[in-house]
Parts: sequence; C-alpha cells; structure tokens
Amino acid sequence: MSLFRPRNLVCPNCKSAITMEAVGSVNADRRPDYRDAILASDFQDTTCPNCNETFRLQPEFNYLDAARGQWIASLPAARMPQYLAAEDDATALFATSYGERAPKAAQDVGKTLDVRVTFGWPAVREKLLIRQHDLDDVMIELTKLDVLRRVPSAPLKPGTELRLTAVTDDMLVMVWIDTASEGVIEELLVPRALYDAIARDEESWAPARAKLTDGPFVDMQKLYMGPGRAA
Ligand SMILES: [Zn+2]
Repeated sequence: MSLFRPRNLVCPNCKSAITMEAVGSVNADRRPDYRDAILASDFQDTTCPNCNETFRLQPEFNYLDAARGQWIASLPAARMPQYLAAEDDATALFATSYGERAPKAAQDVGKTLDVRVTFGWPAVREKLLIRQHDLDDVMIELTKLDVLRRVPSAPLKPGTELRLTAVTDDMLVMVWIDTASEGVIEELLVPRALYDAIARDEESWAPARAKLTDGPFVDMQKLYMGPGRAA
C-alpha cells in the first residue's frame, strides 16, 4: 500500500498556506505510476491554488519495488549531512519491516531487496534509473570518483552533486547539479567503457567500494562528508 498524509505548506511565491497530500510510503509494485513519476521528475509536484506557482515537496518516504529488488529510504536533500543517523534509522526500520525482526513472509521478500538511503529527488531518481538499466549503483559511484580524478575543473563543493540522469548505448549522461535548487550546472558524457573498465578492476577499487557500502547511503559524497563511520 502507498500511504499519504496531509502536510501544511507555505507557497514559496505568494506565501499562502496550502495543504497537500504528502506521500509517506510508495509501493511501486502496486503503483507503477508513482515510479514513472519519480523517473519523470514530477512526483509530488503541486500547484498553488492562489497564484499557480508550481513547486515540489522534498521527498520523505519509504520506497518499495519488490519486483526490482529495491527498498529506499528517500529523505530530504537538507538531511544529507546527518547521513550516519539516517543510515541507522533506515537499517532499523528495514529490520522490523523486512529484516530479522519482521514476520517470516516479509523476511522472504526482504532477502531480495537492496536497502538504500537517498537525499533529494535527483538521488532517488538516479537509483531507479540505475536499476532500470541493469547497472550497479556502487559501480556508478566508483565511476564518478574516477571521473573526478580525470576532470580537474569539476565543480566539486558542498551542495553540488554529480548525478546520472540518462543512459545510452555507449554513454552515461551525468550532470552536476545544485542540490538545493536541483538546477543543472554542467552536463558530462561519460563513456560506458570507463564503467566497464572499473568493473574489470575489482582489486584497485576494493577500498573505495568498502567505504561506499559500509551503510545503506551508497553515494560518493559520504567519502568527503565528515569522518564517516568508525570501522
Ligand atoms: Zn502561491
């Protein structure tokens, strides 16, 4: 079941009070249209009845797609600096929903699910896109790290992130975006051959892979955000 709850908001344009139905959980097996909307970047868009300004609620929901093996705690972009607490919360919630503290039938579903935490809309959309193209999200993050080494002028700084936005036969389309506004700063075409080369070189990438997978926030940004998780 997908669950919604009323949320009171203020229109960013005219400051009118608005109530909208904010999603608390998404079941993509039963509502594939919600998955489509996340991929189309218009899920939870709303229009102010007073001034017609359209804006988007930040994500704060649990996403389940049992058929594709995905469970994602999708959180607001602004919460990324507290990712360690978010990882712990998501791990605990998953344990009671589909993990060791869940009923047997739910555990059977849980065994097929990859658990992830994301912050902001571009990040959750990216996870769905990666799965749609049968790519591996850890490998995509390693590819981004490799891209950073090769592009000396990368606009890397807090509040800016690199996201996969499209996949072609031979290219991974990535964009630098401003996390808060989701505005595109720069587009980057990354040959898929780079991804394939990293896949073949497991040994060199093992240390970075271990750090990226020490919790469900699988995102290269955790490598330069604070001291990280104690080993
Ligand atoms: Zn308004």
